[in-house]
Amino acid sequence: MWVPILPCICRWQKNDCGFIFMEIIRIKNLTKKYDDFVAVDNISFSVSKGEIFAFLGPNGAGKSTTIKMLTTLLNPTSGEILVDNHNPAKEPDAVRRSFGIVFQDPSLDDELTARENMDFHGVLYDVPDKIRKERVQQLLGFVELWERRNNLVREFSGGMKRRLEIARGLLHHPKVLFLDEPTLGLDPQTRNHMWSYLRNLNQTEGTTIFFTTHYLEEAERIAQRIAIIDHGKIVAIGTVAELKNQTNAASLEKAFLKLTGSEIREELGKGYGSARMHAWHGGRR
Ligand code: ADP
Repeated sequence: MWVPILPCICRWQKNDCGFIFMEIIRIKNLTKKYDDFVAVDNISFSVSKGEIFAFLGPNGAGKSTTIKMLTTLLNPTSGEILVDNHNPAKEPDAVRRSFGIVFQDPSLDDELTARENMDFHGVLYDVPDKIRKERVQQLLGFVELWERRNNLVREFSGGMKRRLEIARGLLHHPKVLFLDEPTLGLDPQTRNHMWSYLRNLNQTEGTTIFFTTHYLEEAERIAQRIAIIDHGKIVAIGTVAELKNQTNAASLEKAFLKLTGSEIREELGKGYGSARMHAWHGGRR
């Protein structure tokens, strides 16, 4: 239910317990089509400031497409998005300043050191020199890479690279951190470590965390609220307890399978099916 308090300045949402939280992400009737194919189909939900929110779904469900629209990389076909009160399609710069992102595919420069990768990002985001130096030290310390700051990234393990990406995503003090499968391929120790950094960040800085994962026990442990998307539609949204109750399941994984079925979804190379391939130009559309 939307409560119309100060509608022009900020938006508020009332949760089930009657508390009022400010929204940091609002999605309303959002649709994305690739030609005739509907990848995201009229979805609506919102995320509160400071929330740890999991966005789950089988392969091809529409998660990455949604994240790309939230982060200014793709324009919606229709519907409304607000990130930190700005519309990504109309105010991309304001939206970009409000978030950090860690993608599935590493985007670090392997030929630069850890510190150079951080500095480069800080310059791109206009973080003033003095503040940049302080934050680089603080963040590399936070992800336990300060001692390795002068090493080339190509010498890093997968876990170290992911930690560096997280540190880099936080350099401009974003209000929201988007993480698309941040722990994919990492061993359980590194995954645990990473989640404790992120939880700590969420508690100390109030950073909103919006993440996807296929490790459902991870989402069960960490997320305060979860949305499940399948075939482009939101099939459930709520706390872990609510999703388990709704499906009469003992775990989030069982609830997820009941909601999305157990048939295996083929991953078409991230959606580049031949019928649709011709229309994709690799950028924003
Ligand atoms: P997920 O992230 O949940 O695995 P995606 O958002 O990547 O799903 O994809 C949703 C659907 O959209 C899939 O069926 C995929 O094949 C299709 N799709 C994704 N990107 C493109 C694209 N660039 N061109 C055409 N179809 C795409």
